[in-house]
Amino acid sequence: MNPLAIGIDLGGTQVRAALVGADGTLLARAATRTDAAGGPRAVVQQIGQLVAEVTAGVDPDALAGVGVCSPGPLDGSAGVVLGIPTLPGWVDVPIVAWLTEALRLPVVLENDGVGAAIGEWRFGAGHGLSDFVYVTVSTGIGGGVIADGRVLRGRRQLAGHIGHMTTAPQGETCSCGNRGCWEAQASGTALGTLARRRAARTPSSTLAAHGAALEAPQVFAAARAGDTVALDLVAHEAAELGVGIVNLLHLYSPERVVLGGGVSSGFDLLHPDIKRHIRSWALPPFRDVPVVAAALGQNSGVVGAACLVLPG
Ligand SMILES: [Zn+2]
Repeated sequence: MNPLAIGIDLGGTQVRAALVGADGTLLARAATRTDAAGGPRAVVQQIGQLVAEVTAGVDPDALAGVGVCSPGPLDGSAGVVLGIPTLPGWVDVPIVAWLTEALRLPVVLENDGVGAAIGEWRFGAGHGLSDFVYVTVSTGIGGGVIADGRVLRGRRQLAGHIGHMTTAPQGETCSCGNRGCWEAQASGTALGTLARRRAARTPSSTLAAHGAALEAPQVFAAARAGDTVALDLVAHEAAELGVGIVNLLHLYSPERVVLGGGVSSGFDLLHPDIKRHIRSWALPPFRDVPVVAAALGQNSGVVGAACLVLPG
């Protein structure tokens, strides 16, 4: 019998679940809006419901277990979420113990960026590589590093918090309290904030019509339609992303950089400028490293979570 695994991607906005086959195939999916106000117990209950949905009619003996990806910081070996900035009350939550009791299956916990990197490594754009960096750019910036054929974990498994490397010391204030973290400069949130500022100053731009609802997707749409303010914002975003990616090239010497998350919906617009910046700013031996879009799209997280418990 082919073993099946359940992947859970716990996010500040959505909780996603998937039933994944041994070859990475998505057999069933379910998602719901994260009950942030209900606190950890309510969200664990939501996970239980999603698991019941995706495993309806499945032989329990075929289930290898449940992999959970969560925003960090977390302690994977203890199975404890230490704190999620975007979810109030998520401090020292023993999520693995709670889910093991509720689901009666083996449960493994991993940082969401690292989990998605594992998904792309095994079944996506990093397949077959021994060195690559996965970067997810959405509300924040996260990621995971595969180096010398293994997941780079570091002290207390905290390696790969790439969104909090400083790329602009005098820059924007980050959710962590520091200034100029990469995610404060280049996340989808940062792009949305900058776009609203620019649109308010430029009523002639098509962006101005969106008012307070203006976010990164509308910037990409306007750029595709030729709006010059939007094109300028895309160029700015590519430069901010380029700074961080060049740092990652120099630090880890990956064979490929894989870009995922919501902002990768503008990948085709951002890619030429990102490559141009790499050619100008990286040391010569790093200039030819490809930057590609995530192959699993929004499913990198759930597939990666399932990989945590899939054999092989
Ligand atoms: Zn930060």
